[in-house]
Amino acid sequence: MYVTLTSQQRELLDRSILAGEARDVPDLVRLALRETAGFVISRPLPGPAPAERAWRDELAFTPGDERVLRQEHRLLPGTGKAFEVRAGQVLRVSQVDGDQCADLNVFALHDYREAMHVGRTRTLHGIHPGEGAFLWSAPPRERAMMFLLSDPAGLNDTLFPRCSAAMYESLFGFEDHTNCADMQAEAQREYGLTPDDVHDSFNLFMATRVNEDGSIEVVHQHTPSGAFVEILALMDVLAVPNVCGNDIFRTSNYSLRPLDVTVSDAAADDLARVPPLWVHRSQRTPADFAQPRIRTERRLERDLAYEPRFPRTPVTVEDIEIDLSDSDAALLRTHARRDLYGDDDEAALRDILLSWWVQSHA
Ligand SMILES: [Zn+2]
Repeated sequence: MYVTLTSQQRELLDRSILAGEARDVPDLVRLALRETAGFVISRPLPGPAPAERAWRDELAFTPGDERVLRQEHRLLPGTGKAFEVRAGQVLRVSQVDGDQCADLNVFALHDYREAMHVGRTRTLHGIHPGEGAFLWSAPPRERAMMFLLSDPAGLNDTLFPRCSAAMYESLFGFEDHTNCADMQAEAQREYGLTPDDVHDSFNLFMATRVNEDGSIEVVHQHTPSGAFVEILALMDVLAVPNVCGNDIFRTSNYSLRPLDVTVSDAAADDLARVPPLWVHRSQRTPADFAQPRIRTERRLERDLAYEPRFPRTPVTVEDIEIDLSDSDAALLRTHARRDLYGDDDEAALRDILLSWWVQSHA
């Protein structure tokens, strides 16, 4: 029989073969079948290890035994503020009276087009990222921007977008209501950003859940006075927290209360808690693409000279002949996903092979 693989799938398997896990693809298929039937052994990702990101080299201070307070500010209800948080500094957002939700935007200080991507953060750390999670920027840069150093409150949300003026008008008829979108726009204005630059918020002190029917919901929270979240910058960033403007919903238990924000140079112990970060060649900027210029003209017009240059195309496929012994063929019959592939043994075998590969290479 044959297994049909794209050149990219083949490349993945070839790395396993180079690393000595099997002699060739058919041999790897046999290994996949036998391990799928039994116990999948965990293996390191084959291939060269990525380089470590030397983010500590960007520190503008020498860390000591204690943190050094650099900025402090009380965010009053209806407001937010942009804070420059340099690499190695800790942004701390804390409750004054308790139960107050905050929204957060994060931009790279030296290139604002690199901004926090809540979607990627959610994918990597779940819908409620907590202590030990990173805040990631969007592709193509896709770098860890900040690290959740300490999060005893454990009430962070990535499901809900910022509340907005139109939301309060459509739901409740308000012509004007405190809202996170406008607060972010006003706070970001201090650095020349526009309302269109406000991005999806990372929500602090916000209790949410996914219901069985797939709907998402904000629920009551209980956050005591003094509860805090500490987020350490891994590059120079502009961090913009605001007091969520929602006083007619459960988000902050029907109240609007202040929040305290501080920025401190991290202590050496804080920095030691950050796990290694990696540099990948695919973490790029627009300069690495065919269109590196950031547009200022708003109206979109077709480029008549455009010729598509999609990377790694055309996608090619290859049929690889696999001889299965009677016992391996029996394993395939047992583990084939008939619900997905019916009688198509080749598709079932490819699924087993790639599922095994992904599962066994941590
Ligand atoms: Zn809000």
